[in-house]
Amino acid sequence: MSIADPSPLTCPDCGASTQVKTVHSINADRAPGYRQAILDGDLQRVSCPSCEASLRVEPSLTYVDEARGLWIRAWPLGALPEWEALEAETLMDFERLYRGGAPRMVRDLGERLSTRITFGWAGLREKLLCDAHDIDDATLELVKMRAMRASSALYVDEDLTLRLSEVLDDALLFVWLEGPAEEVLEPLAVPLRWLEEIEARPMDWNRARHSISGGPFVDLNRAPVA
Ligand SMILES: [Zn+2]
Repeated sequence: MSIADPSPLTCPDCGASTQVKTVHSINADRAPGYRQAILDGDLQRVSCPSCEASLRVEPSLTYVDEARGLWIRAWPLGALPEWEALEAETLMDFERLYRGGAPRMVRDLGERLSTRITFGWAGLREKLLCDAHDIDDATLELVKMRAMRASSALYVDEDLTLRLSEVLDDALLFVWLEGPAEEVLEPLAVPLRWLEEIEARPMDWNRARHSISGGPFVDLNRAPVA
C-alpha cells in the first residue's frame, strides 16, 4: 500500500496557495510509478497555479522496495542536524516491524532489506540510483570524499550537498546543490573507475568507510571530511 494525502503549499515567489498530493509511505513493489517519479524528480512537484513557478514539497516518507531489498526513511533537508536521533528511531521502528515478535516470513524479509535514512529528494534519489547501477552506497560516499580532497575549491557551507546525478559509461556525474530547494549550483564529474579503485584498496579506506557507514545514515554528513 502507498499512502498519499493532499497538503497545502504556499508559493514562495508569489504567495499563492495550492494543494500537493503528499506521500507518506511508498511500496515500490506494488506502485513502481513512485520509484520512477523519484528518479525523474517529479514526485510532489507542481506548478504554481498563479505564477507557474515549479514547487516541490520535501519528502517525509518511508520507501519500501522488497524486490530490490531497500527500506528507506526519507526526511526533509532541515531535519539533517537531528540525524542521530532519527537514525535511532528508524532502527527501533525497523526492529519492531521486521524483528522481535514479527511473523517468521516478515523476519526473513527483514533480513534481506538494507535500512537507510536520507535527507532531501536528491539524497533519496541517490540511493535509488546506486541500487539501479549496482553501486555500493558507502563506496559512493568515499568517491565524494576523494573528489572533495582533489578539488581546489572548498565547499564548507552547511547549505551545500554533493549528490549523484547521473551514471555515465565512464563517469559519475555529481551536482552541488544548495538549500532546501536543492538548486543546482554546478556539476562535478569523476571517473567511474574510482569506485573500483577504492574497493581494490580496502585498507586505505577502512577508517573513512567506518566513519560514514556506522548506521542507516550512510552519508558523508555523518562524519567531518577528513
Ligand atoms: Zn507562484
